[in-house]
Amino acid sequence: MRRFLVAGNWKMNTTKESGAQLAQALASEVPSENPAVEVLVCPPFPYLTTIGDIVTGSGVGYGAQNCYHEAPGAFTGETATEMLTDIGCRSVILGHSERRHVLKETDADINLKVKKALEAGLQVILCVGELQSERESDQTEAVLNTQMTGGLAGVDGAAFGQIVIAYEPVWAIGTGLTASPEQAEAAHLYLRNWLKDQYSAEIADATRILYGGSVKPDNAKELLSQENVDGALVGGASLKAELFIPIIQAAVELSAE
Ligand code: PEP
Repeated sequence: MRRFLVAGNWKMNTTKESGAQLAQALASEVPSENPAVEVLVCPPFPYLTTIGDIVTGSGVGYGAQNCYHEAPGAFTGETATEMLTDIGCRSVILGHSERRHVLKETDADINLKVKKALEAGLQVILCVGELQSERESDQTEAVLNTQMTGGLAGVDGAAFGQIVIAYEPVWAIGTGLTASPEQAEAAHLYLRNWLKDQYSAEIADATRILYGGSVKPDNAKELLSQENVDGALVGGASLKAELFIPIIQAAVELSAE
């Protein structure tokens, strides 16, 4: 049985004060670890320590939205994995579509980061997903194959305890458009079979595959109830406790069924 993961990607949002209030609301709603549902927030770098201090001791973990692949040194503006683990961060989102498409990260860049983050002991949430034009031209599976192959190049099966995949169709991110539960399930099934073919049935069965793309309280339960959907990576709705908490609750309810 895979444990649901509900992760909030705050992107480049909040102030120190509004982020702290949000974290406090979440920490009091999720006071302790739920064996069936893992909850994570990924605030902007400058607020990681503040948010980390607030959620420490609660059932909410904290992670970063990016990292660099080199050890600490002369890399102006970058953040080393050593710095993330130093402040108690346990996870990092890599390959998010905004980093791929706005900041022009390639699969090779992402792969270097994936390997460095794994070495550092971080949980890696590797995001993959197709553009609208790619879906319309029936390229979804080819894109997922390229991004999985590139992002995970040289990654050993032994690392999969630390790896989570997030399927995030780019056309559904921040647009209000959501993949239908059937579209999400089909992509997740493709990814699970990819893991089976490239690694093993055990790894495919144990690896969590999150859905991301305009997840909201009113669509969370239907998406999360798909057989191969093991949680959600939530952007916009993770910025409001009154929206994020019902998504967590949907996962808690489903895990009790
Ligand atoms: C995201 O940024 O990963 C995301 C899924 O955003 P949103 O929920 O706003 O679509």
